[in-house]
Amino acid sequence: MPFTFNADLRPFNTFGISVKAKLLARFDSVEQLRALLADARVNELPRLFLGGGSNVLFTQDWQGVVLLNEISGMEVVKEDEHHVWVSAGAGEWWHNFVVHCVDHGWGGIENLSLIPGKVGAAPMQNIGAYGVEIKDTFHSLDAMRISDGELITFDREACRFGYRESFFKREGKDRFVILRVTFRLHKAPHALHTSYGNIQQELERQRITGPTIKDVSNAVIAIRRSKLPDPAVLGNAGSFFKNPVVPGALARNIALEHPDVVAYPAGHGEMKLAAGWLIEKAGWKGFRANDHGVHDKQALVLVNHGNATGQAIFELSEQVLQSVKERFGVELEREVNIL
Ligand SMILES: Cc1cc2nc3c(=O)[nH]c(=O)nc-3n(C[C@H](O)[C@H](O)[C@H](O)COP(=O)(O)OP(=O)(O)OC[C@H]3O[C@@H](n4cnc5c(N)ncnc54)[C@H](O)[C@@H]3O)c2cc1C
Repeated sequence: MPFTFNADLRPFNTFGISVKAKLLARFDSVEQLRALLADARVNELPRLFLGGGSNVLFTQDWQGVVLLNEISGMEVVKEDEHHVWVSAGAGEWWHNFVVHCVDHGWGGIENLSLIPGKVGAAPMQNIGAYGVEIKDTFHSLDAMRISDGELITFDREACRFGYRESFFKREGKDRFVILRVTFRLHKAPHALHTSYGNIQQELERQRITGPTIKDVSNAVIAIRRSKLPDPAVLGNAGSFFKNPVVPGALARNIALEHPDVVAYPAGHGEMKLAAGWLIEKAGWKGFRANDHGVHDKQALVLVNHGNATGQAIFELSEQVLQSVKERFGVELEREVNIL
């Protein structure tokens, strides 16, 4: 089984942070994973399972083993008149899976086109974009309990999905490795979600009146390319913070001073505020010091202009948190996993 000792993790995280791991190993089957976990060089060390490294910030060397999940395969496991159950290996790239489904005419995840990372990490934070989250079409996942190697199937309820949250990000953290995920997708006709963000405008710009799921996917791709920095060009991990949910009274206070505040009802009298708007109003958009900074088009995205350290980006996130708290009385929470 090939190991890399003292591995540079720069190619394995989209922030492009150069830190070392004691050991790096890959697995593409459950058997290989079992063999790795039983290996004397691995089982004493702290373990970190990584997909595409697009939701992590390394602030220091990883004094353990990094295990890259490369379990592949996509297959239809069941179908009926209206639905198809499609399962994908955790090591498949998420966008490739979306394209595969869209090309087959299976609807439900087209709004999640172009989200970086792998299928196995998608349930970790219930990835979402343009009004859709994976919980909407999620059916089940297979995971291995690391303590005893037992294979366990989790249904949607067991995953306890929330906004950028799941059981695996909280109580299940570091206890399970996700191996395979199954979605229940729609065969045509399928209700499209085009009212969120600029999807409708993008479709109109392209003169599309009766969109297909492929058209929606293409519109989302076009919007994302125009708005978000490509990690291959500028290191980043997408939204660094979650959109905060605050009491309605606080949102109304902010709106009195700033009628342009971006806020949506979040139920129970609470409001969800756009974290990017708060950060921009606190003056951070386009900020740069040495190689760490805040993106100049989307203040929610912290960036590495080249050789920033993870520690510098983390400290910048502290400053952003602090200033938003002082300015608006709103406590931001990080979405990215800090390591
Ligand atoms: C430009 C850009 C745009 C983005 N846009 C969005 C967006 O619109 N919506 C959104 O929700 N997210 C977005 N993200 C964040 C990111 O793409 C997702 O969180 C994605 O699911 C992370 O996948 P990954 O494979 O890279 O995970 P990694 O970064 O490799 O891992 C993330 C966490 O999951 C754990 N993990 C990974 N795989 C497994 C596994 N198989 N079993 C157990 N634990 C595992 C890791 O240990 C880590 O804690 C964006 C990121 C970037 C860079």
